[in-house]
Order: sequence, then C-alpha cells, then structure tokens
Amino acid sequence: MSQEHESKGRDLLSKLTRTIRTGAETLVQETKELTRVGKLKVELLALENERARKFEEIGRLAHTLYREGGTIEQLHEHFEAIDNIEARIDAKKKEIEKAPAEEKAEAETVPQESDNIYLPQDEVISHMYCSQCGAQAGADDRFCSKCGNQLKL
Ligand SMILES: [Zn+2]
Repeated sequence: MSQEHESKGRDLLSKLTRTIRTGAETLVQETKELTRVGKLKVELLALENERARKFEEIGRLAHTLYREGGTIEQLHEHFEAIDNIEARIDAKKKEIEKAPAEEKAEAETVPQESDNIYLPQDEVISHMYCSQCGAQAGADDRFCSKCGNQLKL
C-alpha cells in the first residue's frame, strides 16, 4: 500500500516537472484528454461492479432454487442481464483501446482528480527558478532578472 503511494508520488513529481516544462496550453489539452479516458475507465469500473453484484444475486437465487427444488431455467433472465452487462463492458474496453496510447498511459499514471495533480497556473509559476543563481523567475521571463542567465522553459 505504501509502495503504491510512493510510486504515485513519483508519478506526480514527473508530471509536475513536465507541467512546468510544457506550459499552460499543453496542460489544458492534457487535462481534457485525461478526463476522456479517465471517464471511460470509471464507467468501466461501474459496469464491472454491476456485474459482480449481479453474479452475487444469481448465486443467492441459485441457492434458493436449490433449496426449493427449482430449475436453472428460472435464472435465465438474470443470465441475460449478465450478458448485457458484459457486452457493455466489452464496448467500453474497445473504446478505451481505441484511444491513443499516450492518453492511456496518462490515465494509468494519473489516478484521481482528488489528487490535485494540476496546480493552478500561478502556483506553477512560483516554482520557476533560475538554474544559475536560484532567483525566482516569472513564467514569461526569458532571462533571469538577477544574473541575466537565459531561462529555458
Ligand atoms: Zn539568475
């Protein structure tokens, strides 16, 4: 669990580094794509939960039938419901598969919205420092105001 947390932290760091390097336009673009694949994954998860619940239900019903001497045919509509859910799961998986590999990789490394990986723009700016003298620099600064070092974005 803590290991997972650590790797999450590393992902966050590399994400932040990239965010600072790529700037605002890319940031917005990535957020939009992440939301798309991320949303599909959430929907997929919901369907898989629904299927698990359905299997549980069928298990209980099958036991009732066994006790009361019913037949498996009586579960037919429940099996159909499972087939229906599985068809939707397949469709969702295909939709995720169709997404560009880059988007899928992003969805893997960036877990939840609540992790707040995307800092507000002004916070990103506050993380910029001159590599030469360490003075703080604004996002639009091309040269350090203190030592004149050329700043790379
Ligand atoms: Zn400097």
